[in-house]
Amino acid sequence: MRIGVIGGSGLYELEGFTERQELRVATPFGAPSDAVVRGRLGEAEVLFLARHGRGHRLLPTEVPYRANIYALKQLGAERVVAISAVGSLREHIAPGHLVFIDQFIDRTFARPSTFFGEGCVAHVSFADPTCAALREVLVGAAAELGLAHHPRGTYLCMEGPQFSTRAESALYRSWNADVIGMTNLQEAKLAREAELCYQTVALATDYDCWYEGEQEVSAEAVVQTLRDNIDRARRLLAVALPRLAARPRTCGCREALRGAIMTAPEHIPAPTRERLQLLIGRYLEPPAAEPR
Ligand SMILES: [Zn+2]
Repeated sequence: MRIGVIGGSGLYELEGFTERQELRVATPFGAPSDAVVRGRLGEAEVLFLARHGRGHRLLPTEVPYRANIYALKQLGAERVVAISAVGSLREHIAPGHLVFIDQFIDRTFARPSTFFGEGCVAHVSFADPTCAALREVLVGAAAELGLAHHPRGTYLCMEGPQFSTRAESALYRSWNADVIGMTNLQEAKLAREAELCYQTVALATDYDCWYEGEQEVSAEAVVQTLRDNIDRARRLLAVALPRLAARPRTCGCREALRGAIMTAPEHIPAPTRERLQLLIGRYLEPPAAEPR
């Protein structure tokens, strides 16, 4: 039972890996952001990927989300924990707090969000975009560690790379969004299509620019909180990942594509079928022949 971890801003490596191995993976959707680092953390077999690449080389718009999720699926991940720096849109979510995201609002417009298309149509359910079973384990670990956290929250995903204007920040607050970030929505959609459990651990680095008397959000202002947050994320993962490894997967994420593929198998073009084989192959098997 392998667990994928996608590290966001500031988290480019996981410490304490044994049997550490770097894997350069090719996918039908191009190369992932960086090599996937495979290793063990206690009992957990972990696949770590730096979302922006080590050295932070990729804009949120440039991150190859499809290749990243496909690579984790290809390497045998069943669950994905995504670590993400966010701005807080709520007074009670202070810098340094963790938010376990259970809803998203999409304000992106310049990136692919699906594996499908080119002759194969599928519509997965996305009403509950993250995995409640995965979230429960992570929230439990945060509580045990005494980390200030919020067990639910709505993540507004913006295109970036600039931060929001005050007018946008006020608008998003009026929509009941709790935190704002630039990366997690596509991962959640693609993980669902790939039938992986997905959960965002959002770490608040600052109040977004709505906050009364706050200066504009600057990169410098958030660096120290970002560092402390990375330490919190590492502690959380050290407790939660071994626990997840021991827990069988019983949630609906496992068969998110059941009944979701609209295209009749005989109409799916061969190159598309080949590209999607890893994801949809088991739904395209011809029914077993009648015994003679
Ligand atoms: Zn799940």
